[in-house]
Amino acid sequence: MKKVFLSLLIVSAFACKQVKKETAITAETEKESMAPPEVKLYAFNGGTVNANMLELFSQDTTYTGQSKEFADAFYVIVHPKGTLLWDGGLPESLVGMEEPFTSPDGAFTVSRKDSVANQLATIEMTPEDIDFIAFSHTHFDHVGHANAFTKSTWLVQEKEYDFVTSEENQKSNPDIYNAIKDLTKIKKIANTDYDVFGDGTVVIKFMPGHTPGHQVLFVDLTEHGPLLLSGDMYHFYENREFKRVPIFNFDVAQTKESMAAFEKFAEEKGAQVYLQHSKQDFEKLPKAPNYLK
Ligand SMILES: [Zn+2]
Repeated sequence: MKKVFLSLLIVSAFACKQVKKETAITAETEKESMAPPEVKLYAFNGGTVNANMLELFSQDTTYTGQSKEFADAFYVIVHPKGTLLWDGGLPESLVGMEEPFTSPDGAFTVSRKDSVANQLATIEMTPEDIDFIAFSHTHFDHVGHANAFTKSTWLVQEKEYDFVTSEENQKSNPDIYNAIKDLTKIKKIANTDYDVFGDGTVVIKFMPGHTPGHQVLFVDLTEHGPLLLSGDMYHFYENREFKRVPIFNFDVAQTKESMAAFEKFAEEKGAQVYLQHSKQDFEKLPKAPNYLK
């Protein structure tokens, strides 16, 4: 009897241990499935823009006689469910030019050192590895290497698509139209926000005004925390501080509304704002192959 009791005791102690172990495994699995997905943000240099007539960046004469050098960044976001290229830098036709190029009106002097294919190679990627592409908007300094991504799905607001493909734009801005015309895999967004991977970590925010379908990008990173890539909501700090609107914006009132929405959203989320054309903000980011996570 004593022997039986002892063996029962051993069995029950063993069983108890098993249960504990299983509970621990279940808890571990749950922890894993609840953990936020690992998202990485790579920043790249898409060229340099010298704004020779800074007065273009305000409705008044505040900047008359001034000039400013802008960064022209683009980004790759790597998510467990796919990859997104955000913005397209300056035209790749500038790569290899001995001298920076100045636009006929003298407003901008631009240069670009390297192609997107070479730059992606530094993180062991090719354009074929990019599932989605999205541009903050379709100006010349944001769609430079767009046509390298004909196999990717272009995420574009309906209003921006109609604007850039309109007959009028094809005539007045043939270079911009040509920069996107080979893109055939298109996912049009109904002029609203768009959660790229469905879990809230990478969200395109519809913020029109600079162009009819201008958008910014929200990225929620585990270590760094949430951030916003501004597109051309503001080109430099002073314009953010004083809410100044460039004279070439599509709609001033709409821009001001989007500025208010942008600031409200940034505050709600506690998101760090990176102005894409700010050299200071570009310097804050690690450069590929390093990344933020
Ligand atoms: Zn721009």
